[in-house]
Amino acid sequence: MKYDIKNLTLDEKLGMLCGTDAWRISTANGKLPEVFLSDGPHGLRMHDKKDPSVVRFATAMPSLSTVANSWDVELARLDGSTIADDCIDNEADVLLAPGVNIKRTPLCGRNFEYFSEDPYLAGSMGKAFIEGVQSKGIGTSLKHYCANNREYDRNSQTSEVDKRTLYEIYLRPFEIAIEAKPWTVMCSYNPINGILASENKKLLKDVLRNDLGFDGMVVSDWGAVRDSARSAKACLDLCMPHNPNALTQLRRALDEGWLTEADVDECVQNILALIEKTQNGDKKTTTTKEERHDIAVKIARECAVLLKNEDNILPLKGGKIIVGGHFHDIPLVGGGGSSTVRTAYNFRPIETEIAERLGDKAEIIPTKYSAWTMNPAIHFMKDFVEDAYSCDAVVVTVGTGYLVESEDFDRTSIRLHPSHEDLILNLAAANENVIVVLHAGSAIDMSPWIDKVKAVLLVGIAGEAGNEAAADILCGRCCPSGKLSETFPLSIYDTPTGLERGNGFYERYSEGVLVGYRWYDTMGYDVLFPFGYGLSYADFEYSDIELTKCGETDYEVSFNVTNVSDVDAKEIAQIYVKDVFTTVERPEKELVAFEKLSLAAGETKRVSAKLGFRAFAYYNTSLDAWHIDNGDFEILVGASSRDIRLKAKLRIELPYGEQYSTR
Ligand code: BGC
Repeated sequence: MKYDIKNLTLDEKLGMLCGTDAWRISTANGKLPEVFLSDGPHGLRMHDKKDPSVVRFATAMPSLSTVANSWDVELARLDGSTIADDCIDNEADVLLAPGVNIKRTPLCGRNFEYFSEDPYLAGSMGKAFIEGVQSKGIGTSLKHYCANNREYDRNSQTSEVDKRTLYEIYLRPFEIAIEAKPWTVMCSYNPINGILASENKKLLKDVLRNDLGFDGMVVSDWGAVRDSARSAKACLDLCMPHNPNALTQLRRALDEGWLTEADVDECVQNILALIEKTQNGDKKTTTTKEERHDIAVKIARECAVLLKNEDNILPLKGGKIIVGGHFHDIPLVGGGGSSTVRTAYNFRPIETEIAERLGDKAEIIPTKYSAWTMNPAIHFMKDFVEDAYSCDAVVVTVGTGYLVESEDFDRTSIRLHPSHEDLILNLAAANENVIVVLHAGSAIDMSPWIDKVKAVLLVGIAGEAGNEAAADILCGRCCPSGKLSETFPLSIYDTPTGLERGNGFYERYSEGVLVGYRWYDTMGYDVLFPFGYGLSYADFEYSDIELTKCGETDYEVSFNVTNVSDVDAKEIAQIYVKDVFTTVERPEKELVAFEKLSLAAGETKRVSAKLGFRAFAYYNTSLDAWHIDNGDFEILVGASSRDIRLKAKLRIELPYGEQYSTR
C-alpha cells in the first residue's frame, strides 16, 4: 500500500476514524491527501470547499426511484458516470450513493431515493450505477446498510427482521451491488434486531465482508454513531461527520483496554485503502454541462411510465389543449433532504415545451395556475376549469413534492393532496379528455380519480429534465418505455403494513419475505398497477420459449419478442420463477432476470437469459445457506408481473446428499 500505517502516530490514527469536518477525512497532519465525500444520489449535492454555506450547482438527474422505472442497467450506468463528471468538476472524491434499500411500504418518505421493492431489480440497477460512477475514478457509498425501510424514528426504532427475510429481501440488493466493488458502504441509522447498524459487528463484519464479499471502507451515516469505540470495535471504519466526543470515547476505551490499537489499525487500513483509491491519476470528464443536461433528458424520457391511455388519446394529435397544474412551470426536481441537488438549469413551462413540439397542429392555452406548493390559489383553479370546458383536451400536472417525499419523515397517506385530487376531479367534470402528468417518487392511490381521466403519464421525480421528457412522450417524439419498479396498490390498507409504523422501540417485519408483488400475488389481491407494468404506443408479442439445461441448476431460457406495431419502441421483458410445490413459504413468483429491448416497428429479437442456482434457491436458516429443494419450477416470461405471456417447466434433481427428508 502506498500510505504506510507505520508512519502515523496513535493520535493521528484516532483522528482518522473521526473525520475532520462535515465532509472530509483527516489528512493526519498533512501526511495524507485530502478526501472529500459528498452527497448523491440524484446528482452531486456539494457544499463549497472554501465556503460551506454555498451549495454548488450540479445537474439534477432523475431520482433513483425514477431511474429504476427504466429497467435499463446501461442507463443506470450512464446516470452514474454523468454524475461522476460533476464530481470531477467539483473535486469530490466519493459520491454518497446509491441507496438500494427495499421499498417495504409505500409510506417510507425516502422511497424516492431507492430503486425498487424487488431485491434483484434494486441490486442490478445499484450495481450498474456504481460501475458508472467508479468508471470515472470517483468512489461510491452503497447505502443505507441495512433494513432501513422507513424514516419514522429512524435513529432508534429497531427493524426486527428474521434471518431468512434479511438475506432474501433486505441484504440481497447489497449483495448484488457489491459485485461492482463500491469503495465504501454506509451503515444505516436504525438498529437491526436490537443492535444499532453502526455497532452491529455481525452485520458489518461477518455478513458484509464474509458473506457479501465487501472489501472497502465502511462509513457511518451522518450522525449514526452513538459511541465511536463500540463502532470501531464493530468494524465501522469512519464516523461522520466530525464529532469531538468521538475522539474522547475512542481514547477512553483504549485507556481502559477495551479497544486495542489493533482494532483501530484495522479501521485505519481500510481508510488508507480508500484514500489510495482516490489518488488514481488524472480524472477526466467526458461530458460538458450541456451534454449532462441532455443526458438527464434522455434518462427521464426512458423512465416515464404510461399508466393509462384510453382511446389512445396519447400521443397528442393537436387541437385546442389547455395545460396547467402544480408543476407546469417547474417540474418536481427532487424530494427533500440530503439528496437535494441545486441546479442552474433555466426551466421552461411544460406548455412551452408542448407548443414547440406540436407546432401548428395545436393551439396551446396556458393557465395561471402554478402553485408549486401544497396550497394552491383556488381562484386560479376556477379559471383553469372554466377554460378547460371549451378545449379538446386538458394536460394537468400534479404530484407530491419535497414536503411530502423526504428524508427524515414518512408519508401519512398515499393519496395526492386534496387540492390536487380536487383539481383533477373538477377538470374531469368539465372536460372528458383529461391527461394527468404525475410527478411522484413512490406509489400513489388514484382511486378517487383514475376512472375519470383518459391518460396518466408518471414522470416520477425526473430532476431538471421533467418537462422536456414529459413533452417528448406526450407529443409522440418518443415512445414511453418505462415500467413500474414498485406495485401501485389500490389502497394503503392492501399493503402488508397498512398505516402501522412500529411502536417507537421496534417494528416487526412480520410479512417476512412477502414484500411488494410477492405479497399481493401470494395473497391474490387486486392492485391498481402491478409491478413491472407500463404501456407503450406499440404492441408486443412474445413467442417461442425454449429452455436449455446447462448444469444441475443452470438453465438458459430464450424467447422472441416482436414489435407488432408501426412505431419504433422499447419493451421490458421480465422473467420470473415459481417454485411449484414447496415445503417452506415461498412467494408466488420472484423476478430473476429482465431485459430492455429496442425494437423497430415490426422487428423481432430473441432474448436469452441464464438462470443459475440463486434463481431457484431460498435462504435456509437451518443450514445457514442458500438451498434448493428438489422439485418442479416454472419459468414465467411476462410483460409485467401480472401479464405472463410464456411459460416453461423444469424439474431440479440434486443428488441425495444435498437434500433432506421432507416428511
Ligand atoms: C443521509 C445520508 C447522507 C448523509 C450526508 C444523512 O442524513 O441519511 O444518505 O449521505 O446524511 O448528507
